Amino acid sequence: MKIIMLGAPGAGKGTQAKMIAEQYKIPHISTGDIFRANIKNNTELGQEAKSYMDKGQLVPDELTVKILLDRVAQDDCANGYVLDGFPRTIPQAEVLEQELNKLNDKIDYAINVEVPDENIVKRMSGRRACLNCGATYHIEHIPPKQEGICDKCGEKLVLRDDDKEETVKNRLNVYHEQTQPLIDFYTARGVLKTVDGTVDMKEVFKAITSILG
Ligand code: ADP
Ligand code: ADP
Ligand code: ZN
Repeated sequence: MKIIMLGAPGAGKGTQAKMIAEQYKIPHISTGDIFRANIKNNTELGQEAKSYMDKGQLVPDELTVKILLDRVAQDDCANGYVLDGFPRTIPQAEVLEQELNKLNDKIDYAINVEVPDENIVKRMSGRRACLNCGATYHIEHIPPKQEGICDKCGEKLVLRDDDKEETVKNRLNVYHEQTQPLIDFYTARGVLKTVDGTVDMKEVFKAITSILG
């Protein structure tokens, strides 16, 4: 099963993608996580990506597409995957579609997690991330067992540089301009499913599993 998660920054794509990955035993692939791992390790890719991410802009398509295609070509992706944060532009979606076409394959579901902009800024200021293992928490809604410490790996949690209010507003604009058109793109392919992302994370997951079966 090949699944794409769509939605504004902070809509809960990552939270749901991790649960989907576990339940359906497919890898969770987050381009944001790949970029952050590269920033942490101070690679050339990381340095380039950071210059865009810090401003709330998208990393250029060419770079992002290459990374994603390399990742989905790995063996663990043979039975499918859940993409979180890719595609984010029409050109990215087109390249992915062309590559899948070559393999006589396609995306099965594009899950659109819908959350109004008003809720997003509040959600992001409470998000805490583990840059070691990619786990995500919320100080009110989904707190870690011990404040400031990742449940899964024990690393310190951080407020991401790009989760500060001004950057979040830029990211929302970028979302509306460049990513939201993907809703029409996947609707036209007959694979778009929209779920309400404002309810409890377990309720959101229930709605998703009833779609995926
Ligand atoms: P969020 O889940 O909050 O939307 P991500 O971790 O998905 O954040 O992405 C963080 C940043 O990484 C984005 O703002 C963007 O700069 C960059 N990024 C991630 N995925 C892509 C992509 N597919 N295309 C371009 N830039 C991306
Ligand atoms: P995205 O990957 O779309 O940027 P995340 O999954 O990282 O979003 O979620 C953004 C923030 O909102 C995180 O702090 C996360 O813990 C929290 N969150 C996720 N789902 C919900 C939910 N259904 N209700 C409340 N908070 C949520
Ligand atoms: Zn961790």
